[in-house]
Amino acid sequence: MRPTDFTLRGALDALNEGLLTSEELTRAHLEAIEALNPRLNAFITVTADRAMEAARASDARRAAGTVGPLEGVPLAIKDLFCTQGVRTTAASRILGEFIPPYESTVTANLLRDGAVFLGKANLDEFAMGSSNSTSAFGGVENPWSRRNDPDTRLVPGGSSGGSAAAVAARLALGATATDTGGSIRQPAAFCGIAGIKPTYGRCSRWGVVAFASSLDQAGPVARTVEDCAILLRSMSGFDPKDSTSADVAVPDFAAACARGVRGLRIGVPREYRLDGMPAEIEALWQQGLDWLRAEGAEIVDISLPHTKHALPTYYVVAPAEASSNLARYDGVRYGARVEAGGDLKDLYERTRAAGFSDEVKRRIMIGTYVLSAGYYDAYYLKAQKVRALIKRDFDLAWQQVDAILTPATPSAAFGADEKQDDPVAMYLNDVFTVPANLAGLPGLAVPAGLDARGLPLALQVIGRPFDEETVFAVGSAIERSAGFDALPAVRAGA
Ligand code: GLN
Repeated sequence: MRPTDFTLRGALDALNEGLLTSEELTRAHLEAIEALNPRLNAFITVTADRAMEAARASDARRAAGTVGPLEGVPLAIKDLFCTQGVRTTAASRILGEFIPPYESTVTANLLRDGAVFLGKANLDEFAMGSSNSTSAFGGVENPWSRRNDPDTRLVPGGSSGGSAAAVAARLALGATATDTGGSIRQPAAFCGIAGIKPTYGRCSRWGVVAFASSLDQAGPVARTVEDCAILLRSMSGFDPKDSTSADVAVPDFAAACARGVRGLRIGVPREYRLDGMPAEIEALWQQGLDWLRAEGAEIVDISLPHTKHALPTYYVVAPAEASSNLARYDGVRYGARVEAGGDLKDLYERTRAAGFSDEVKRRIMIGTYVLSAGYYDAYYLKAQKVRALIKRDFDLAWQQVDAILTPATPSAAFGADEKQDDPVAMYLNDVFTVPANLAGLPGLAVPAGLDARGLPLALQVIGRPFDEETVFAVGSAIERSAGFDALPAVRAGA
């Protein structure tokens, strides 16, 4: 077996049994990156020398009897996580040369547990997007292609498109990602892998470049649900440096994967049945419910009446917070600066005009508009109220069900030149994912089948706050039933 073909769990087992070393495993992944990254553009920065050094250090620790839970496992890190001494760009020109003097808590946790970092994965600029096409470092290609149309380049989804493409193409065993409105689950779905956005507060946001602070959550993407569970355990944990970090115990998520679903009540929200939703997605959803019923779960129809307001609410709240968070990029404290002949305001204007691309500017303008004195009540305050109602819908649903099953996305991966000139069509990608962010709930995307053109489709499992264990149990049951073993055309060793 090729080292790049292992699951993360399989690689850990092989390392523990002495069948291979981290050095071999890491080298194989770096070779795969060298061969395929010029095409996929999944990494903005590859830290090959550092990775080999870290792998050798891991092998030495192992030889000395110190074996962390992720000992020797090579990962990709979304380039939104600050990594000490390694350029962290957020895929923006304004941070194009930024080298953080500190390590984010999540990546520090992974290093503590023995992980090896291969490099920094591409993303939409400041994590704003659903196709990875807003990156200042160029788009990412989805390793999958349509069966009868192999030449059309497809997007990997976004914003964590580089993370998802890298894992799907076997350039990394797993990756970190972040999800503000779907950026873990949608790219995982488009690339045929698993990804979980945990409960808000589960993973520290400290050292993660901020987009919308009340929505942002870190989480893993990997090729199996169990691999996500293993990664999430290492990434999670209370962090006094993040005031919204939750001081709750971190369970053994991987153990929960084997629990089964017997006796669980699974909710089917009728409002997720959208007009014009492709029949294939509707059919897959039904299939998922049938699988869970066959495994002993009870299927319950539920209503989440404010669902239709989730997308507009998100696209008020997220830009509002973004406009405030991005005020820090002023050309004075860090990041790029465009020297100006005029006054300080001139410096700000020139720096921000040159440093941000159109999508980021669009969000800043929407955000400042909805927060402005004249419109605050009409938009921002109203959106906050609707957000509370969306959350209440879920609170009520949890009285009836233990988890909720929905489609992950309204379509499979689309072409790199589709939807690009229509921001609203792009925003519709997030219709099934944003409610979990607005309510702070865990959501898992799990690949469940292929569409007629041979592209992966995923289902989403939403759970109660801090009940990722049930989410993993349900996701694993779907994974077992689906037996999804299709492979993308572009991958290491193909
Ligand atoms: N696609 C959504 C947006 O553009 C979500 C992005 C995210 O989750 N970071 O805002």
